[in-house]
Amino acid sequence: MGIIGLGVALPALVLAAIGVVLTLRIGTALDAQSDRYNLYMAKQVAKAFEEELQGHLRDGVTAAEIVARGGADRRVMLQALESGALPGETAAYVPLNELSDYFLLLVEGQPVIYRAGIEDQGGRRFAGVILRDTQGQVVGAGGWWTDPHAFLREHVRSVVEERLANDERLYGGIESRRHISVMLVAPDGAEVARVRAPAAHEHASEAPLQGPFEGYAVRVAPTITAPILLTRRFVWIELGFIGIMAVLILLATFFGLRYTVRQIEIARLKSSFLSNVSHELKTPIALIRLAVETLEMGRVSSPEESDKFLRRISRETMRLNQLVENILDFARLEAGQRAFRFAQVDLAEVVRETADSYRLRIEDQGFTLKLDLPEGLPPVRGDGSALAQCLLNLLDNAVKYSREEKEIRVGLTQRDGMVGLSVADRGIGIATRDHRRIFEKFVRLEDGLVHDVKGAGLGLSLVQQIVRAHGGRIEVHSAPHEGSTFTLWIPRVAAADAGAVEPEARTGS
Ligand code: ADP
Repeated sequence: MGIIGLGVALPALVLAAIGVVLTLRIGTALDAQSDRYNLYMAKQVAKAFEEELQGHLRDGVTAAEIVARGGADRRVMLQALESGALPGETAAYVPLNELSDYFLLLVEGQPVIYRAGIEDQGGRRFAGVILRDTQGQVVGAGGWWTDPHAFLREHVRSVVEERLANDERLYGGIESRRHISVMLVAPDGAEVARVRAPAAHEHASEAPLQGPFEGYAVRVAPTITAPILLTRRFVWIELGFIGIMAVLILLATFFGLRYTVRQIEIARLKSSFLSNVSHELKTPIALIRLAVETLEMGRVSSPEESDKFLRRISRETMRLNQLVENILDFARLEAGQRAFRFAQVDLAEVVRETADSYRLRIEDQGFTLKLDLPEGLPPVRGDGSALAQCLLNLLDNAVKYSREEKEIRVGLTQRDGMVGLSVADRGIGIATRDHRRIFEKFVRLEDGLVHDVKGAGLGLSLVQQIVRAHGGRIEVHSAPHEGSTFTLWIPRVAAADAGAVEPEARTGS
């Protein structure tokens, strides 16, 4: 059975594992793709800033270029440059012989001269272009000391919204420019400016800025509306889906197997029930036949001996009768056709009558039967013969499952509107784990005396069904080697119903 379970569960688990691995791979591929696109965008923004700077320098330096070609001196150059400066910028002309401390950055083939901040410029940086005289000889560089913070903040929107928007190459992939957040960060990591907010906890790709913006960086991350976020959510939904499917398949396998095991168990119990019953029927018949033949042939020597045979015939007939009753009743109960005649029943009376008819039979086998029947117990609402049948079954079990200690007590008590009829023996007892199982049809416990004593496994199931039809319940107190006490709790007659005669009631229907 375990093999069948493995045969179903294992392929399901393998498939689920493959599904999980593939989905995770799709997820990581998407993340990588998104990261790559964002890094590409960050680099594009960095480049666009350099172009913006170049454009800005070109626009402002025209006047200085004209005077440079005319061979003007430093002061005139400076004046010309000042006319092209933006607010917050200081114009500067650097003659050729002072350019050794300056650096060169090529932006689309055009040189930009720059220098990092120096003391007297208060954190500002120089950015300028080369100036030439009439012969095309470099005379120096002209530009401005600029605050990179201010420049970046000032131009971020135009760079991202206009320069990038005009570049067709930036579209494509699963991301799009509209769903990325662009942030400029200072060398100390502080945010300088940004376009759109990044989604929380998203990985950002970073590209460094160069030239006069050295140390600054462009950081690009998906926004909350980015397709990658939605796609990733689908990946998680798919993983959850695979997980639920796997759990469902495992549960279905488990319950399917449990059902099959139960069916097999019931089939096994049924077949052992048939062999038990046929044996149960044959044994008393054989004993009765033997006794009758012995009496018929006059082989008994004394009246005591003939009494013994007669008692045996009586005992075996009762046993046969009880077995047949049990089987027939069980069949009727199962089919919902067992009829009960409910009336007021004095349980003490039922116990006395049943004990009287049974006493001889069990005392013959060396048992003592003690009754504890207090006076004044209220009547119960029940079917007298059905309740007697229950008691007989319990007594029969008490006899069957006792060894040396052959003492049986039958008692009556009352509690919470119920009258309790208990049968206690000092027999082999029942382990706690079996207390529920013994009431199932055909069940006979494997341990104990089950191989020595006969039974069909129907008695307790029948008793339980009858008690339930009475609106009562059955309790068992038992432990191995400590005997067992079965108590049937039957509702007492309600005061208002006393004296009323009830119609016949059927089970199940
Ligand atoms: P059976 O025909 O086997 O007696 P029952 O339904 O009456 O069928 O009982 C089911 C099983 O419960 C028995 O086979 C036995 O193992 C256990 N059992 C019932 N009554 C007792 C008892 N008084 N003491 C110990 N075991 C008992």
